[in-house]
Amino acid sequence: MSEISVIAPGATIGILGGGQLGRMLAVAASRLGYHCHIFEPQADCPASHVAAHTAAGYDDMAALDAFAAAVDVVTLEFENVPIAAVERLAQQVPVRPGAAALAVAQDRAEEKAFLNKAGIETAPWAPVLSQADLENALAFTGRPAVLKTARLGYDGKGQSAIRPDTNIDGLFDRMGGVACVLEGFVDFDLEVSVLAARGLDGEIACFETVENIHRDHILHRTLVPARVSPEIDARAQEIARRTIEALDYIGLLAVEMFVCADGRVVANEIAPRPHNSGHWSIDGATTSQFEQVVRAICGLPLGKTQRVADCEMRNLIGDEADDWAAILADPGARLHLYGKAESRPGRKMGHVTTLFPKPDR
Ligand code: AMP
Repeated sequence: MSEISVIAPGATIGILGGGQLGRMLAVAASRLGYHCHIFEPQADCPASHVAAHTAAGYDDMAALDAFAAAVDVVTLEFENVPIAAVERLAQQVPVRPGAAALAVAQDRAEEKAFLNKAGIETAPWAPVLSQADLENALAFTGRPAVLKTARLGYDGKGQSAIRPDTNIDGLFDRMGGVACVLEGFVDFDLEVSVLAARGLDGEIACFETVENIHRDHILHRTLVPARVSPEIDARAQEIARRTIEALDYIGLLAVEMFVCADGRVVANEIAPRPHNSGHWSIDGATTSQFEQVVRAICGLPLGKTQRVADCEMRNLIGDEADDWAAILADPGARLHLYGKAESRPGRKMGHVTTLFPKPDR
């Protein structure tokens, strides 16, 4: 096996994207003695409060080159970074995860094709590039179905449900006339995710299977562990493991899945970065998802992922974060605020994790 070149504490980690994920990543990296430098177009972004910040566009090659010169390794907290920017950086500094994995995660059609090729079940799906495609695809999936833009969707944005009585005339144009995928509706019992990390030596460590409860298409609560049987748990873990291996991936990857009543576990989407459903791990696991990113991309041994307690993570959306004083009054609640100046409906402002230690611990 080739020698692994370790990026030692004291080095600088470059992070593409400056939201709350970048902020929590920078905090974890700083605990291990690393510096962080954010590349994010938006001024005063959450991560800029805790790390150096280059405020420039992803098409600004001079700024990208200067950033590459200032850092020892690059990772990302936002998957929609243009591939051209990632490739430019990769000529100068290691980028982990790399452009190939990112390209898969950026496009739902690529993602589903990739998963299916790796032997992982997804919803029945078809690419849709025109209204005629949509009609044919619907004949294949049947109703209900969900039409999603192939790129740039999140938290239910860029999605349109097609119910038995939905009139689909002109729907492709109403979606913006952009490349889409049509997915058959999966009649699931619950949603789970598994976060897997893979290090430079190929070692893989998965966090426990967690259960995700959404409200208005946004993650509301994560329950750790997920309320699933050992068989379902093992299936979810195996899907995450197989996905990260097939991608030849370095870093942390989230795999979101549907669990069906008949025991099927169906992959929904992957995220090539720390994930909202892993926030519990800051307070509830031996190693947090953010520390695990640092370990994986710097060639360090991966940390233990086990939970130290059962946990519930609740997102603070919009004005829910105004309740910070009441949350702090509960001495067991672990409050995290992202430092966003402006609260808007649907905006993730913070989260709170509650630990339920076992009586014998
Ligand atoms: P996504 O942006 O693909 O993660 O979808 C957001 C949410 O919409 C998911 O977490 C599910 O609750 C729901 N959803 C998405 N796709 C499907 C599907 N094919 N069948 C059933 N529900 C879906």
